[in-house]
Amino acid sequence: MSGFDPLTQPHCQGQAFASSYWAATCPLGTPNPSLDKPLQVDIAVIGGGFTGLLTAYHLATTHHQSVALFEANQVGFGASARNAGFVLPSTGRLGYAQLAKKYGLDVSKSIYQEYNNAVALVREHINGNHIDCNVQASGYLKVAHNQQAFSLLKAQSEFLTATMGSKSHQLLSRQQLTETYMHNQQGFGALRFDNAFGVHPLKLLLGYKALAQQAGVQLYENSLVTRHQNPNGNHQLEVNGHKVSANKVVIAANAYAQRQFSPLTQGRYLPILSSIIVTEPLSDEQLAANGLITEQVVMDTRQLKYYYRRLPDNRILFGGRGAVFGHDQDNAKYQYNLRSALNDCFPKLDVKVDYFWSGYIAAALDDLPHIYSENNTGYVLGYCGSGVAFSAQASIRLAEKLMGLKVPNLPIYTKPLPKFPMPRLRRVGQLAYYQYAQLMDKFA
Ligand SMILES: Cc1cc2nc3c(=O)[nH]c(=O)nc-3n(C[C@H](O)[C@H](O)[C@H](O)COP(=O)(O)OP(=O)(O)OC[C@H]3O[C@@H](n4cnc5c(N)ncnc54)[C@H](O)[C@@H]3O)c2cc1C
Repeated sequence: MSGFDPLTQPHCQGQAFASSYWAATCPLGTPNPSLDKPLQVDIAVIGGGFTGLLTAYHLATTHHQSVALFEANQVGFGASARNAGFVLPSTGRLGYAQLAKKYGLDVSKSIYQEYNNAVALVREHINGNHIDCNVQASGYLKVAHNQQAFSLLKAQSEFLTATMGSKSHQLLSRQQLTETYMHNQQGFGALRFDNAFGVHPLKLLLGYKALAQQAGVQLYENSLVTRHQNPNGNHQLEVNGHKVSANKVVIAANAYAQRQFSPLTQGRYLPILSSIIVTEPLSDEQLAANGLITEQVVMDTRQLKYYYRRLPDNRILFGGRGAVFGHDQDNAKYQYNLRSALNDCFPKLDVKVDYFWSGYIAAALDDLPHIYSENNTGYVLGYCGSGVAFSAQASIRLAEKLMGLKVPNLPIYTKPLPKFPMPRLRRVGQLAYYQYAQLMDKFA
């Protein structure tokens, strides 16, 4: 159990690995040695999640750089092995119509390409490298939680067809949803996307770890980077009391970074807890009685979304917002809240919960991820809870940026994360937003 909060505690090293279903069903293996001597490399990568591992991999392979990666704990400690394993053609929180309104249609179309490419890249990594990560049937159901939300999904579907040229989504009526996918009491129809799928995220991550190591990346675990300085253009890190010199640095520490680690990222994201329960396996009779037909990944249209899926062993994974403050994250009430929400969807479901855990996502003020570099230091931050797929594309773009190559001229690649106006009050803002969102979800 862990009450870790990146906004109040000095660093994440030494915290327990999340007691997730993923960790219980996949051995972590022996950690790589920690750094025990000074080091000089072309590029130092901070953080061993999807972003750090894939960025290191691309820098070592495509760009022929010598790369060292430092992970404060064991690879998978962060969000990458705590998530729901949804590989989605989206990230951040803005839909394509919102993007078009804010940045214009061409930008929205290019971002659509980037997000969809990310899903294809994950498949390529899995298939091309035989990563055995329990890939499930394709499909993502965005389920309308009320009639008004269904009207919005209808408009979204029309926008995708007419404006984005999408042929890979379908609008499903309530009846179609019920007959083919699930008898969800809270489902008023859905928008279904063809290309998304579910994976075992820890197995995928360990596949990426192997890829990075095969590419020659020096990977050090239990190696907390405590300092990053940049005197005279040469980057110096302090890791386990040893000096690491590098020409360039990648910050891939996500919401688990120290609060004041870098002026580039400080005060520019909000670590938010998301929690997950996994039930005991359901019998065929229980699945039939509750109309749980599909194993495609599901998310609803609430402001405070619930996400769920049937796992290969017929357990139900169900996630949603967690505590506001880190010290409260293991409180049984959050498990109870998720359990109640699951039963609101499937009232006849009478099963035991076997696993409950939480993890941090990094929310951005403008609801978009940013892949940015300055003075040979680059970061990816602000996936807003959807980085499993997009890390595959973001890592390519970050590597290109660091190597001085041209990347598409999109706000996600050219603009830094916007600063929160009063960073110290981020939790207060979060509390206020939760109040507002709960009202919207109930009455709007
Ligand atoms: C409960 C939950 C459910 C989610 N579900 C989904 C989902 O279904 N689909 C989806 O697309 N996204 C999901 N996400 C989001 C997704 O997991 C993240 O966007 C993604 O994993 C981010 O990967 P990352 O590599 O950037 O960061 P992380 O995986 O968080 O890795 C950062 C790493 O940096 C290390 N670190 C931090 N500071 C230092 C330091 N100073 N020195 C060395 N190492 C350091 C940490 O130990 C950590 O391991 C979910 C997130 C959560 C929490």
